Amino acid sequence: MLDLLIRNVQTSTHEEPVDVAIAGAKIAEVAPRIEAPAGQTIEGEGRLLIPPFVDAHFHLDSVLTRIPNSSGTLREGIDNWAVYKQEQLSVEDVYQRAARYCEHAFKMGIQAIRSHVDVCDPQLRGAQALTQLKRDLSDRIDIQLVAFPQDGYYSAPQVRELLIAALDMGVDVVGGIPHNEPMYNQGTASLQELLRIAQERGLPVDVHCDESDDPNSRHVETLAALTKQMGLEGRVTASHITATAVMDPYYVSRKLIPMMAAAGLHVICNPLINIHLGGHFTHPRHRAMAPMRDLLAAGITVACAQDCNEDPWYPLGNADMFEVARMGAHVGHMMGLEALHKVFETVTVNPARIMDLPGYGLTAGCRANMVLLRADSVVDALRTSATRELIIRDGVIRAGTAAVA
Ligand SMILES: [Zn+2]
Repeated sequence: MLDLLIRNVQTSTHEEPVDVAIAGAKIAEVAPRIEAPAGQTIEGEGRLLIPPFVDAHFHLDSVLTRIPNSSGTLREGIDNWAVYKQEQLSVEDVYQRAARYCEHAFKMGIQAIRSHVDVCDPQLRGAQALTQLKRDLSDRIDIQLVAFPQDGYYSAPQVRELLIAALDMGVDVVGGIPHNEPMYNQGTASLQELLRIAQERGLPVDVHCDESDDPNSRHVETLAALTKQMGLEGRVTASHITATAVMDPYYVSRKLIPMMAAAGLHVICNPLINIHLGGHFTHPRHRAMAPMRDLLAAGITVACAQDCNEDPWYPLGNADMFEVARMGAHVGHMMGLEALHKVFETVTVNPARIMDLPGYGLTAGCRANMVLLRADSVVDALRTSATRELIIRDGVIRAGTAAVA
C-alpha cells in the first residue's frame, strides 16, 4: 500500500498530467494513471508539482539584520557588516535570525540552502550557530555551509587558521573572495591555497569571484585554469562573476567561457543583488550580471540564487525563488518559452546539481520532496509567484492549504 498518492498533476518533465505515488520517504512511481490503494490522496486537478527550490547562494549569518546601506554599494555593505560583527553579533543572534528565515523559506518551497558563513570572526560565532542549525533543521532543509573569508584570506594572519577551524567544525565547502584581497596577486595566491585545501580534504569550492564592475578583475580565469590543472572538474563554483558583464566580449566569448566549460566550473548568478549592487559607477550604466544565456549555451551549469534577505547588502527579499528567477530572466534576456523553462531550472535542478543533492527530482526512486503550486504551467508559476499549496518533505505533508483525503 502506498502512503501518499498525488493525482493528476502537471510537471516540468512530462508532457501530459501524471499521478505520483509515494511509499515511505521515496517516490515509488510516476505514471499517467496509478491504480493502487493509498493512505492519503491529493487531487492535483491539473496543478503544477515541482521538486523543491534550491537556493545555492545565501548568507544566513547576516539575514534579517536589517543593517542600513544608504549608498547601495557592496563596499558599504561589507563595512557596515564589519561594525555589526564587532558590536552586536552573537551565536544566539545568528541562530535565531537564521532559524526564523529558514522557517519562512521552507513555507516558500525551499528545501536546500547553501549558505556562506563569515570565518574572519576570531570566535567563529556564525559557524558555531549555523553548524548547530544545520543539524537542528535537517528534517526540513538541507543546509550546506561555505567557509567564507569575507574580509579577505590575507586580510589578517589568523584567517587561514579560522577557515580550517570552521571546516573542522563541520562547514562543508571552501570559500574565497579573490577580488577583495589587498593586491591582485594575493587574489591569485588565495585561489591556489584554497583549492589546495579543498583538494586535500576532498571538499567542494564556492568562491565569491569578481563581484566587481572592474573589467580587469579576471580571477575567474585563474579559478578555471587551477580547477583543470588540479583535476577538480565539477567541484568548483564561481559565484557572482559580475565583472564578466563589463569585460571585452571577444575575451569572454572566445577565451573565458570555453575555459570555464572545459574546467566544468559551475556559476551562480544572484540577479536581485547583482543588479542592485553593481553598475553604480560605469557610464552608461550596465547590467551587472554574468551573461547567463551564453554560459548556459556553453553547457555550464548555472544557478540563480537569492544571496541576501534584509541584510546590509539588500533591504528586500522574501525567500521567493520565483522572484529571483524572474529577475534573472529579465536581465539575462531569457523570455522565450524554452528559455523560461531553462530559467526555472536555475532555481531547481541546476543548483541541486551544484550542491550535489542525492535523490533530487520527480522520478521513481527520488526523495519524496516536492511542492504543489497553484499554477498549471511553469510559465504561469513564474509569472504569478504561484502560491505554495502543499509542501512535502520525505513523503510527509509538512505545510500547506490544499485538501487531502
Ligand atoms: Zn554572497
